[in-house]
Amino acid sequence: EELTLRVENLWVSYYLEGREAFAVRDVYLDVGKGEVVGIVGESGSGKSTLAHAIIGLLPRNSRISKGRILFKGKDITGIKTDQRYLYRGTNIFMIFQDPMSSLNPTMKIRDQLQEAIDVRLGKRGWNIGTWRPPKGNNEEEIVDSLERVGIKRPRVIMEKYPHQLSGGERQRVMIAMAYLLKPSLLIADEPTTALDMITQAQVMRLITELRESLGLSVLFISHDIVLVGQIADRIVVMYAGKAVEEGKAEEIVESPMHPYTKGLINSIPDGYKNEKRIESIPGSPPNILKLPPGCSFNPRCKFAMEKCMSEDPETRVLGGRKVACHLY
Ligand code: ATP
Ligand code: SF4
Ligand code: MG
Repeated sequence: EELTLRVENLWVSYYLEGREAFAVRDVYLDVGKGEVVGIVGESGSGKSTLAHAIIGLLPRNSRISKGRILFKGKDITGIKTDQRYLYRGTNIFMIFQDPMSSLNPTMKIRDQLQEAIDVRLGKRGWNIGTWRPPKGNNEEEIVDSLERVGIKRPRVIMEKYPHQLSGGERQRVMIAMAYLLKPSLLIADEPTTALDMITQAQVMRLITELRESLGLSVLFISHDIVLVGQIADRIVVMYAGKAVEEGKAEEIVESPMHPYTKGLINSIPDGYKNEKRIESIPGSPPNILKLPPGCSFNPRCKFAMEKCMSEDPETRVLGGRKVACHLY
């Protein structure tokens, strides 16, 4: 079966302090049709950089220096957002931690959702931030999409502007937009991080429903391995820009192999009963300008050996698991 997304040997860098520093290093990633793949890692591990490279949203001080990104078999590496509105608008859709960043503050919700329908129907390209009167009038479909995402008074909400909604409502509107666009791939980058616990659970359920009803593929990004474990079929753990472990979600959560993944699991509050963390990963997250030689995790790893100080471990395939660590 055709893959929705394939990322091969991807390297992405930023120009920082007069030199090139790598935020994504040699990442391989496959997302099958209808599959949910979770990307997990601490702040700065390169999750958003990877997502931005896929969707063509890298900032000007960044570049893809090596590798390929294939979307349904088609090479889309390095194609900027504005040159590929068809991929971005209708085939790959991304939701962010802050939905305000992708909603147009000067357009009513109704017009933004109509625009999504117009894009799907090929009546226009996707160009966020450019006000053009909507072409069609699909009010019933708009109301239906808002109802699907649990908006109580859709006809009232759709006449509002984004700033008049709560954060949870705005994220629901983004999911309604996905229903209208019907993308093949949804990238959700920390979509619930800014929300309270109850709204967070509702948004997770909505993403699951969206996936089931559209049969779409999802790349779900979060620093929270438990949250990702609930939604993902497969998990990729990133550290300092590298995929250090990959496998079935339940296997990663139940029996992590890489010391870093073990650290992420061990820093989960104890059964959620008491709030205290069992053990957090010592040391601070890596600085991409000053990565140590050998395995990037070596300053924080309690299993570090001589070899770890000089040799970066290769990725090994062990059953259904991939792991990059000298212990294996
Ligand atoms: P978070 O959980 O905080 O969102 P992340 O895993 O998404 O983290 P990225 O935002 O991809 O991580 O950052 C990876 C590395 O790239 C970090 O070292 C970060 O400082 C650097 N970086 C990210 N964006 C830029 C930028 N626009 N310019 C320079 N460096 C950047
Ligand atoms: Fe730890 Fe060495 Fe494995 Fe790196 S390669 S995670 S330092 S044991
Ligand atoms: Mg991020």
